[in-house]
Amino acid sequence: MSTPPVTPPSEMTRNAVAELYERPLLDLVFLASQTHREHRDPSEVQCAALLSVKTGGCPEDCAYCPQSAHYETGVETSPLMSVDAVRTAARAALDNGADRFCLGAAWRSVSDGPEFEQVLDMVRSVKALGLETCATLGMVEPHQAHRLRDAGLDYYNHNLDTGPAFYNDVIGTRTYDDRRRTLRSVREAGMKVCCGGILGMGEQTGDRIDLLYELAGQDPQPESVPINTLVTVEGTPLANQEPVPWDDLVRMVAVARILLPKTWVRLSAGRLQLNDATQALCFLAGADSIFLGDQLLTTANPEAAADQALLTRLGLHRLKDAAVPTS
Ligand code: SF4
Repeated sequence: MSTPPVTPPSEMTRNAVAELYERPLLDLVFLASQTHREHRDPSEVQCAALLSVKTGGCPEDCAYCPQSAHYETGVETSPLMSVDAVRTAARAALDNGADRFCLGAAWRSVSDGPEFEQVLDMVRSVKALGLETCATLGMVEPHQAHRLRDAGLDYYNHNLDTGPAFYNDVIGTRTYDDRRRTLRSVREAGMKVCCGGILGMGEQTGDRIDLLYELAGQDPQPESVPINTLVTVEGTPLANQEPVPWDDLVRMVAVARILLPKTWVRLSAGRLQLNDATQALCFLAGADSIFLGDQLLTTANPEAAADQALLTRLGLHRLKDAAVPTS
């Protein structure tokens, strides 16, 4: 059996990350599972719900995204939702077993003004229900990050998507450094960082290693790392990409778990395409977070009942259930 890495994951060189990534898959799963058990309760699954509070018409050109105004995808645009409608959705998510509620807006960046004030009210009302709060609103300036934190935002999601060398093959309207800048603003405001990537956009193995190296090297490391597999959507430039092989996903999850031992590693978009056995292997490799609810922004996600049945079969439980007294 290969021995675990002795270098702390956050200090590993890019070469060391590459060597880890190339290990035999089952060695990696074993090592990841061991790491998971050393740092966290492996039977616990954090369950987030994600609501699109402003859909479509985004000026960015992310090649995977049906909400970009650059592509004809048939996604209906809708203006910013009311605070009441968001509160109702958050309460339903809570009743469904979610412990965190994420607000997503298809914006390039946050603009100061009435819509931002409305989002701050949404954060306050979700927080008041007792849910953890998360938002993904595009780029934020330091003063906006502070206001979000003051409103009660726990997490800010801002994905790096892939490695820096491949980034501008997928997105032309912003740079990797733009992303890093927002991540810094979020961190400096005192919020937790949710930051991950997408597999299956045409990237090479080296780009995946670059992304893992970038995520693991953040100090502090992100508290949440969503690992998405591309959901192809007609009309986007990536509509014809081949599906991601299941073992690529398991490998990515395992390496993420080893490199980010205390982080929530989330199986995110693309989970509907995974069979139960692959999901089980991902949980064994250290995934411990999912999105609940049959819709993820504009693409489909497994039904909550199917997720609950799978967790039960695997002997896993939702974080929220762990917090509920049994007597
Ligand atoms: S991923 Fe976000 S920023 Fe990119 S086009 Fe879609 S909504 Fe806009």
